[in-house]
Amino acid sequence: MADKTVPGVIRKLDEVVVNRIAAGEVIQRPANALKEMIENSLDAKSTSIQVTVKQGGLKLLQIQDTGTGIRKEDMEIVCERFTTSKLKQFEDLNSIATYGFRGEALASISHVAHVTITTKTADSKCAFRGKYVDSKLKEPLKPCAGNQGTQISVEDLFYNIPTRRKALKSPAEEHAKIAEVVSRYAIHNSRVGFTLKKQGEGVADVRTPPNSSTVDNIRTIYGASVARELLEIDHQDDKLSFWVKGHVSNANYSAKKSTFLLFINRKYSTITLYRLVDSSALKKALEGVYQAYLPKNTHPFIYLSLEIAPQNVDVNVHPTKHEVHFLHEDAIIEAIVRAVETKLLGANSSRTYFTQVMGSSYLIPPEHTSRR
Ligand code: ADP
Ligand code: MG
Repeated sequence: MADKTVPGVIRKLDEVVVNRIAAGEVIQRPANALKEMIENSLDAKSTSIQVTVKQGGLKLLQIQDTGTGIRKEDMEIVCERFTTSKLKQFEDLNSIATYGFRGEALASISHVAHVTITTKTADSKCAFRGKYVDSKLKEPLKPCAGNQGTQISVEDLFYNIPTRRKALKSPAEEHAKIAEVVSRYAIHNSRVGFTLKKQGEGVADVRTPPNSSTVDNIRTIYGASVARELLEIDHQDDKLSFWVKGHVSNANYSAKKSTFLLFINRKYSTITLYRLVDSSALKKALEGVYQAYLPKNTHPFIYLSLEIAPQNVDVNVHPTKHEVHFLHEDAIIEAIVRAVETKLLGANSSRTYFTQVMGSSYLIPPEHTSRR
């Protein structure tokens, strides 16, 4: 037994261990790693993104894109922490610091998996392949054949964190999470073609062609029953400086499970990109709007893309928290709710009527009046 009067000796943990623990906190499951890699492929202006998965991404998680590729000279440091082609100066950090990843995604992944990158830029004669462990190149780059773009293979995720691996759900559930991430990015980036396949299988789980529309992709992924009942949202608010666009289902559509897709802008020095996030406050508020229209215990389909002033994104959001917060949140949510409600109202004016309650007008669909 330890002597109660003698303090323990404080030692600095091995750097490899520290990095692994930190990485395991950021990358909690295959779908988190994939989200980062999809964003990198989109950042690199890919027109097509193919994801191949084995055992729910635990054995293999591979992404192949048609983007700019990575310069051979950069391959040495690409998996190191804080190496990025997207920020140039300290001031840039402010605008994206809130999303956590500042050249850290590939580094994090390489601390908890075996990473292989094969990449070719337009002006290179051949592709190059590098294998990475703990953010370092394991052996010299190998020239190889390849098309322009980048392929990243993540193998044996969490091979060095058995507890994290054990805590994960079944491969089938991890695969479902991956399919959800691919589907959502496909809807938000309809110009880019997406494919998700299990390795060795001919039929894709998700497939969207390049240059399609948002509604086309909603139809392909979520079905015609929702795609034909969509209302377009496009509302700009100068006072609160935000702009919300998207598609939400009308009162003819209801589902047992709610679908809520929310993207928020992320600004780099020269580009604005969108990140998939959660906002339970916005979700709850919008579901509340639909309560008056939909049968009990059924839910709408909501896809929204929200652009807010970068300085309004809450600086306390940590990358592991997918939940997003922003300044003037209540007011912005209220304005979004009003925009959606107005659309619903317009679309349902034939089947609804107004009633005056204490000076303010409430919309009550006839089929629900008995519930009030
Ligand atoms: P960040 O995206 O914040 O810069 P990452 O760790 O995700 O950090 O990526 C590090 C760098 O690697 C990126 O800045 C980019 O230059 C390069 N990179 C990663 N993935 C790709 C890709 N698919 N195509 C081109 N470049 C990539
Ligand atoms: Mg990234």
